[in-house]
Amino acid sequence: MKFFKHGVALVAMGLLVACSVPAPETGVSTKFESIRDNDIQLRVFLQDMPKGGDLHNHLYGAVYPESWIRWAEEDGLCIDPEALAIRHPGADGCGGLQTAKAALANNQVLRNALIDRFSIRDFVPTSGWSGHDQFFRTFPLVTAQPHRFGDMVAETANLAGIQNVQYLELLHTMELFETILPMVIAIPMSGDVAADYETLMASPFGAALPEILARARRDIDAADARKDELLGCKTDAPQPGCAVEIRYLHQPVRTLPASVVYAHTIFGWHLMAEDDRFVGTNLVAPEDDFIALRDYKLHMAQIDHLYKTLGERNVSLHAGELWLGLVHPQELRFHINDAIKVGHAKRIGHGTDIVFETDYKNLLKYMAENEIMVEVNLTSSEAILGVSGSEHPYDVYKQAGVPMAFSTDDEGVGRIDLTHEYMRAVQEHGLSYVELKTASYNGLKYAFVDEVTKAELIKKLDTKFADFESKF
Ligand SMILES: [Zn+2]
Repeated sequence: MKFFKHGVALVAMGLLVACSVPAPETGVSTKFESIRDNDIQLRVFLQDMPKGGDLHNHLYGAVYPESWIRWAEEDGLCIDPEALAIRHPGADGCGGLQTAKAALANNQVLRNALIDRFSIRDFVPTSGWSGHDQFFRTFPLVTAQPHRFGDMVAETANLAGIQNVQYLELLHTMELFETILPMVIAIPMSGDVAADYETLMASPFGAALPEILARARRDIDAADARKDELLGCKTDAPQPGCAVEIRYLHQPVRTLPASVVYAHTIFGWHLMAEDDRFVGTNLVAPEDDFIALRDYKLHMAQIDHLYKTLGERNVSLHAGELWLGLVHPQELRFHINDAIKVGHAKRIGHGTDIVFETDYKNLLKYMAENEIMVEVNLTSSEAILGVSGSEHPYDVYKQAGVPMAFSTDDEGVGRIDLTHEYMRAVQEHGLSYVELKTASYNGLKYAFVDEVTKAELIKKLDTKFADFESKF
């Protein structure tokens, strides 16, 4: 369980706090200071503490391995015991493989191996296989029937609700591998984003776009309905996930060919305009991948073109999820800057390599002045980049006055929850109660949800904090 062990507080307390700070509450602060070094009491305290939102939560990464396995057993999917993967049956059923149900009957060893493979449980890096490899390799190995989309949302919402999390922005990829990708993968791109836009829209993709959008919206309707049904949201005994407000972020995959990334981003731009459940967009997949690096500036230019021609949308971008040694040093110098200045990112996912950016001090100043919030994912940062404790730039952002909120990234792969991330923040970065509370509010303040809903959520959070703090 390597990734669950953390050091003690590493930084001094009482310095600058990122943005507007709620007034300190002496009773609750005194209680917090008295238990901050006791892990189990801290867990209890933070579990109950109201948490505004989790703004960086990939739906596929949020699902715990046990759920992928259970759905495979229930839905007649197959298990590849060599690859440790779930596969869909073909025309000949599972062919040379067994169904999940048959393969896993009385086979705890295989079950354990799958859980370990679909997460970082018991993972120890070995030569040629890093935490980064283990983490990202999970996603091609798991799959489920389409109707399980709603089950994934239900599971994630309930885990949030149990911890007093009010709001989720779930990153989700729709209409990519089976629809948009085969339509556009062979279309050559020139690199001129205006001309390439016209090329894509003049292709069969452009003609099919209304149909693709309508299907995506129906799938979201179905997922929301199934989530409500699974959690009993319309009954007298709703489960905790029913109280969690949910929105989605459109998620193109940055490791695919340029035509696919662009067409999928165009689809997302329309989806965000037509469906207010999709409140923003965010490029996903390893930022250090060869294509992701090669096309980084092209992707920013594509987003910029759509932003200027089709209209403004909310953009958050994984940027600076890199570290010295993982990539050539030149890759560390411009990603965060370009995400903000060219890609119109209002929030930055990770931002880990900030101090390697060219003129990072002025970039930090710009981020603070323009309230570009950083989505801090501490467990993921340690697992994927090996960056934790005082090596993580939390303190750099704090000193600069850049707002931050904590998020889970992939809680099912990391086998964590948001409370765990708040704990790490206290243990590794020495947050005070007031700083934690500020981060909790930032999870709503910088959400992409519409302003009316946001105001309601913040009001509700005020009430929840008043109730929470009245106990001390
Ligand atoms: Zn992420």
